[in-house]
Amino acid sequence: MRIVSDIIDFMFPRYCPICKERMSQDEQYICFNCLSDLPRTNAHLIDENPIEKLYWTHLPIERATSFFFYDSLESRQTIYFTKYFNDPNIGKTIASVMAEELQETDFFAGMDMIIPVPLHPKRQRSRGYNQCDFIAEGISDVTGLPVGKGIVSRIVDNTSQTHLLSSERKENVENIFKLMHPERIKGKHLLLVDDVVTTGSTTISCGRELAKAEGVRISVVSMGYAGKKFLNHDNR
Ligand SMILES: [Zn+2]
Repeated sequence: MRIVSDIIDFMFPRYCPICKERMSQDEQYICFNCLSDLPRTNAHLIDENPIEKLYWTHLPIERATSFFFYDSLESRQTIYFTKYFNDPNIGKTIASVMAEELQETDFFAGMDMIIPVPLHPKRQRSRGYNQCDFIAEGISDVTGLPVGKGIVSRIVDNTSQTHLLSSERKENVENIFKLMHPERIKGKHLLLVDDVVTTGSTTISCGRELAKAEGVRISVVSMGYAGKKFLNHDNR
C-alpha cells in the first residue's frame, strides 16, 4: 500500500532534526546523510585503542570503543546531541547503525548481555527516560543480545548540577553505583553502555560494581567520545 504511505508522507512530512531536510519514508528520526556525516572514531579497528587505554590500571576490560568524536567546539554535534536528548529514539537509531558497523568485526563476539549505565531514579523520573536504555535497545535490535536493567543501580545523583562534559569528574563518581543482582550476571561477558565517555570514570565506577559478581568480564561502548582526539585511517 505504497499509495497510502505516500499520502501520509505528503500530509505529515517529517524533517531531520539535525539538518532540517525533509526525510524520505525510509528514514527514521535522523536522515541518512547526517548519519553518515557523524565523525567515526573507528577505535574498534585499532589495536589497544586510546579509549581502551582510559581503563588501563583502573578496570580490567576486554574491549572498548565509541562511535563518534563528540567535539564540543563543533556546533553540528552539539545540536545533534541536544536533539538526541529531546528524542531518545534518535539515540536508538544511531546506536543501531553503530552496532551494524561494529558487527562487521568481531567486536560483539562472546558477549552475553548489554548493561545500560543507570540514571539516579530521581533524575530518570524528571527526564522521563534513561537515554542509555535507548542506546542499549538500539544495539540489542541488531545483535540480539538481551538488555539487563536493574542489575546495577545509581545510588548517588552526581549529575544534577553538572554540565554533560564535566559530569565525569573523577572525584565524584566513587561509590555512586550499587550492584543489586550479582546472580543475574555471574560468569557473563557484559557490554556496558554509556552515552558519552570522556575520561571513562563513570563507566569505570559502574564497571567496578559489576565486577564484584563472580566471573564477570566487561567491555564498554559509548556513542560519543569527548576525550582527546586521536587519528585513525579514516579521520587522519
Ligand atoms: Zn539530516
